[in-house]
Amino acid sequence: MSYIVAIDGPAGSGKGTLTKVVAKELGLVSIDTGMLYRCHALAVVRNNIDLDDKENIIKIMDNIEIKLKNENNIQTVFLDGEDVTDQIRLPEVNNTVSLTSSIPEVREKVTELERKIGYDWLKEGKNIIMEGRDITTVVFPEAEIKIYLDATPVERAKRRMEQQARKGINETFQEVLESIMNRDKNDMNKKVGALKRAPDAIYIDSSNLSIEQVKRKIINIIEKKQK
Ligand code: C5P
Repeated sequence: MSYIVAIDGPAGSGKGTLTKVVAKELGLVSIDTGMLYRCHALAVVRNNIDLDDKENIIKIMDNIEIKLKNENNIQTVFLDGEDVTDQIRLPEVNNTVSLTSSIPEVREKVTELERKIGYDWLKEGKNIIMEGRDITTVVFPEAEIKIYLDATPVERAKRRMEQQARKGINETFQEVLESIMNRDKNDMNKKVGALKRAPDAIYIDSSNLSIEQVKRKIINIIEKKQK
């Protein structure tokens, strides 16, 4: 029987990295759902849609095609056939996505897409590990394994800065910290799909743990569940 590992947590908690390394070790298909929300936000930015213009932010969902590709555990995202995997990480997308993803109609469509992506892999007999903000609570509340990954805002800002610097994007620590705290506020106060701990999700605080240590913890949880 195929299984689903669902992971939620705030920006910079390490979900993305951990999901990939765990997927690699256990041969799971990793799915980063933030890429879908970011892709829609990129379309909003590119079309110069005002952030107050809810109607068009919703409408554009019907006029774009978002596709996730997963090959050898490398995930790429396509907007109307164009590979936008790098563009979705630009600061203007970071500053747009919490707002655009807080609109219930946008979430409804992305949730539908996430479930389809998940079920398509399960049908192929693959096990999946999907990360986001509402995977354990809304998208796959029935997932066999649920994890909430956390870390302090300062630690998360440090990690995000290193990640951005590796991509040649230069922001000050203060800018990154502010952006993270703003996103926390928006993510946790959404009317639909707010980031929250599912009562049955296992809580991991990664602030003082290495990637390897968190990876082992998650793999132990998965292996224990399977037994
Ligand atoms: O995970 P990442 O930081 O790339 O996600 C970008 C943004 O997309 C988040 O700040 C959040 O606002 C939104 N998101 C969401 N629900 C998800 C995944 C991401 O609202 N399942």
